[in-house]
Amino acid sequence: MKILIADDDQISRMITKAAVEQSGHECIVAVDGDSAWQLYKEHRPEAVVTDLMMPGLNGLDLCRAIRAAEEDSYTYVILVTSHGSRKDVLAGMEAGADDYVTKPLDPFSLHIRLLAAQRITSLHADLARYRSALTEQARTDPLTKLHNRLKLAEDLGTLDHHYCLAMVDVDNFKSYNDIYGHQAGDAALIAIASTLAGEVRKSDGVYRFGGEEFLLVLRDQQAEGARLVMERVRSAVQDLRIEHSGDPDGVLTISAGISAFTSGHRAGTEQLLREADLALYAAKASGRNRVSLAGAIGSE
Ligand code: GH3
Ligand code: MG
Ligand code: MG
Repeated sequence: MKILIADDDQISRMITKAAVEQSGHECIVAVDGDSAWQLYKEHRPEAVVTDLMMPGLNGLDLCRAIRAAEEDSYTYVILVTSHGSRKDVLAGMEAGADDYVTKPLDPFSLHIRLLAAQRITSLHADLARYRSALTEQARTDPLTKLHNRLKLAEDLGTLDHHYCLAMVDVDNFKSYNDIYGHQAGDAALIAIASTLAGEVRKSDGVYRFGGEEFLLVLRDQQAEGARLVMERVRSAVQDLRIEHSGDPDGVLTISAGISAFTSGHRAGTEQLLREADLALYAAKASGRNRVSLAGAIGSE
C-alpha cells in the first residue's frame, strides 16, 4: 500500500516511517497537517497514519477532510494517540478514523493494523469496480451493446448547444422476423446498430430506443447538416445488403425523422422527441427508406 504518515515530531515520524517500511509499504511523509492534506490530494494513499496534535490541520481535521473528499476509493485512517487518552480516541473515531495506536509506537501493533487496512481498502476497491461495471451495465442494451434509454435520459439533460435528434426505425421488420426468424432479426439489429454507431462522430450518441427503434443525438448540428448525416446513415444501412424478400427494396432499410434544437427553436427534449417521432411517421408514410425533417424547425 501507499501510506501517508503525518507527524510534526521528527523522532515519532522516523519511528512510524521505519515501522511502515518494515511492514513492506511505500511511505509518504508529511511534517504537519496542512502538508499532509496537500500530499493526500496529490497521492491518494490507501492508508494514513496520523498524529493527533499537529500545527495547522490537526489529526481530527485531517480525518474529516479525507472522509469528505473520498469518492470511489476508501482511505484507512489510523490515529497515533498518547497512551491512555480515551477522549482523544473517541474524538478520533467520531471524526472518521478506523483505528488507533498509542505512543510510543509498537511496530507490531501497527503491522497488524495495516493488515486490516489492506483488507478493507481492497474490498472498497472491489466495490468501486463492481459499482462502475453495474452503472455501465444498467445503461447498456445487452443485444446491440448500444446505450439504452436510461443513458439517453441522462445525456439529454446535459445538452445545451444546438443539436439534432434523429429517431430511426427499421422498415418492415415484423415481416423480416416472420420470414427469417427471430434470431436472424436479432443479428440484423446488431448489424444495423453497429452501422449507426460507425457512421456518426464519436461525440454523437447512438441509443437503442425500443425494439427496432434507435435514437441518435447529433451534437453541434443544424437541421440541414443532420439531414446529410442521416442520408449517409440510411444509405450505409441499405448498403449492408441484408436480404429482405418482404421489402420493396429487397434489403433491410431504415427510416428516420429529425428534429432540431436551435436558437430559433429552443424546444424541450420531450417536445423534440415527439417532433422526431412525427417526422419519422411522415418518412414511413411517404414510402420508407427515407429521411424526413420535423415540420416546425426554426433556423438561425
Ligand atoms: P414499419 O416499417 O412501419 O416500421 O413496420 P415494422 O414491421 O418494422 O413495424 P412493427 O412495429 O409492426 O414491427 C416491429 C417488429 O420489431 C416487431 C417485433 O417483433 C420486432 N422486434 C422488436 N424488438 C426486437 C428484437 O429485439 N429482436 C427481434 N428479432 N425483433 C424485434
Ligand atoms: Mg417500430
Ligand atoms: Mg419498424
